[in-house]
Amino acid sequence: MNIGVYPGSFDPLTSGHMDVLRRAAALMDRVVVGVLINTSKTPFFSIEERIAFIKEAIDAEGIKNAEATHFDGLLVAFAQKVGARHIVRGLRAVMDFEYEFSISSMNKRLAPGIDTVYFMAEPEHSYLSASIVREVGGFGGSIDGLVPDVNKSKIIERLS
Ligand code: ADP
Repeated sequence: MNIGVYPGSFDPLTSGHMDVLRRAAALMDRVVVGVLINTSKTPFFSIEERIAFIKEAIDAEGIKNAEATHFDGLLVAFAQKVGARHIVRGLRAVMDFEYEFSISSMNKRLAPGIDTVYFMAEPEHSYLSASIVREVGGFGGSIDGLVPDVNKSKIIERLS
């Protein structure tokens, strides 16, 4: 079985994240979205909220082979635990490349059997990030289309 893990902060899930997840799920047998519990960053949304947003979006789209959970520590250890052969990441502009390149080299060194695969962001999502969603929504701007419709009202409520 071809299993992939899609790690990230997802603070909150955006339409760009969802696009990557949709495409990975079409390619793989099972995709496990892993929300990182990062002790060095203070997220806006709690781990429970972030996982709930992802689960709701997966259900709303009827994606049968994707699920969401949390993890901490080494990403490759999490990937090994779920039996994943692939790590899924998205690439937006050039700014993502250098970071992703260094992380994937390290992950390859730690776990040579696990490959990282990348999906290029759709043009309309190239400049979309969770931090932009938090900023725009926090100032009362429209986040229509920037996050999955099913999550929108809860995100707006929390940001305002
Ligand atoms: P991290 O904190 O690990 O960067 P993010 O939640 O910001 O986590 O992103 C998770 C993954 O999704 C990363 O690979 C990131 O490049 C990708 N990603 C984020 N936003 C988009 C987008 N708009 N389009 C495509 N991929 C994206």
